[in-house]
Amino acid sequence: MGYDLHVHTTASDGIVSPIGVVRRAIDLKLEGIAVTDHDTVAGISPATEYINNEGLELDLIPGIELSIDFEQEEVHILGYFIDYRNPKLLEKLILFQEARTQRAVKIVEKLNQMGLKVDYDRVREMAIGGLIGRPHIAQVLVEKGYASTIKEAFRKYIGRGSPAYYPRYKLLPGESIKLIKECGGISVLAHPGHIKNQRIVGEMIDLGINGIEVFYPDHSEQQTSYFRKLSQEKGLLITGGSDYHGESAERNQLGTIRVECCYVDNMKSFLGCF
Ligand SMILES: [Zn+2]
Ligand SMILES: [Zn+2]
Repeated sequence: MGYDLHVHTTASDGIVSPIGVVRRAIDLKLEGIAVTDHDTVAGISPATEYINNEGLELDLIPGIELSIDFEQEEVHILGYFIDYRNPKLLEKLILFQEARTQRAVKIVEKLNQMGLKVDYDRVREMAIGGLIGRPHIAQVLVEKGYASTIKEAFRKYIGRGSPAYYPRYKLLPGESIKLIKECGGISVLAHPGHIKNQRIVGEMIDLGINGIEVFYPDHSEQQTSYFRKLSQEKGLLITGGSDYHGESAERNQLGTIRVECCYVDNMKSFLGCF
């Protein structure tokens, strides 16, 4: 039972297809999942159609995960119950896609200049037809033996502050909240425990974010209770999810976090109040 409200598929940097994710969710007896791919909604239709065609009992919430820059930090904003066919949203997402591809090319160029033999075509193959992201470059770095883990590849080469890092066009913090709202969705601050400058959390609340991802695998018990209390004090919605990207020792498994349906009911009734 329960919901996993933070799930990636091959539409972005996950390694399991939207249908594969639905099958796993059914096997795990989850009540529902939210597909929240980075900067794309391409995984939502295939998952929804599969559920409908097979007559499966799984509540699929259309979502997205947007990245913003906030004072030198990359902060993630989740959008839930978005109208994933909204033309304005689709137009913006095309811009992001182009920016992502350009960025991947730039990073590979930098790596090549450093003498590392990373082939862009191999990076594209790793993305299995989905959006090309830094995790795919990291996979190639590991494959080539330049790093032993994805984490190490980020730390040594492509993470922020590392020699082959290249920034990417992103929305302003307020723009991300506005865009999600315009698509009829709920904006939620993703994994706040990862944010180094905790002042950002307060600023996102002031900007009008609707909720906080309180339940997250990397959050300590202390962080979970702190963010839960903060959400309650500020009258914000509470969400949670595993940030599933596929079965891998370094990543969290689907259903690691299962939020009770009352949290999802709160989100649904919040939308009813608009
Ligand atoms: Zn994230
Ligand atoms: Zn995520």
